Amino acid sequence: EGVLVLKGVERRYQQGSKTLVILNGAEFVLRAGEMVALVAPSGAGKSTLLHTAGLLERPDGGDVILNGRACGRLGDDERTAIRRNDIGFVYQFHHLLPEFSALENIMMPQLVHGLSVKEASDRAMQLLDYMKIGKRAQHRPSELSGGEQQRVAIARAVANAPLVLLADEPTGNLDPVTASYVFDALEALVRHSGLAALIATHNHDLAQRMDRRVTLADGKITSF
Ligand code: ADP
Ligand code: ADP
Repeated sequence: EGVLVLKGVERRYQQGSKTLVILNGAEFVLRAGEMVALVAPSGAGKSTLLHTAGLLERPDGGDVILNGRACGRLGDDERTAIRRNDIGFVYQFHHLLPEFSALENIMMPQLVHGLSVKEASDRAMQLLDYMKIGKRAQHRPSELSGGEQQRVAIARAVANAPLVLLADEPTGNLDPVTASYVFDALEALVRHSGLAALIATHNHDLAQRMDRRVTLADGKITSF
């Protein structure tokens, strides 16, 4: 039982005549309210795992179960719809829309979701305050520091109150001090909202602050 369950997940890439086996029967359970660190060397398959768990990529075998519903093998349209509701994703680089303000970037997924401008803007402001950058609401991404940009990206990822937050090196582009502050804000938000989070990081200090740590080896997920 878990919010996010991976069952025998297989993922292979064809590289010319060679088959790269990235996930080979990966098993994982993310429970409600849990923060789990994913720590593994570059090339081990962290992004592949997060993209598959986040329904961006379809597993070649096995399945991804979200809140009891088998979702991994559904078609692209269905996976996209579920992803928009249930999954928040944060990348190493913020991917914010450059021509929009911080506030508007956080409003966007909510407007797509059908909320009114007032509702979306109220919640976006609340999230910006929570991330301690309320004063930056009207700034565009290029007018924000790297740490501020990631705070906005994190707020945007949780704007639709997803079930699960997946993050791929969310502080990987920041200096250690900034990374620690951004992680403080991320952690507070996750704890406050009772979200479950799986966070890939190379930062061992941050990994130690999570509830438990897993790695990827030979296409399988193991605790360490
Ligand atoms: P990590 O995030 O741990 O660095 P990735 O999941 O990005 O690892 O990649 C794992 C391996 O799979 C790498 O060797 C990468 O080059 C390869 N890979 C990832 N995506 C693809 C793809 N779409 N096609 C072919 N190879 C891929
Ligand atoms: P990230 O920083 O998000 O991990 P990556 O560089 O690992 O980004 O991958 C970016 C995109 O390129 C992903 O969709 C991944 O699947 C794809 N990709 C990664 N490695 C390869 C590869 N060797 N061949 C083809 N696509 C790849």
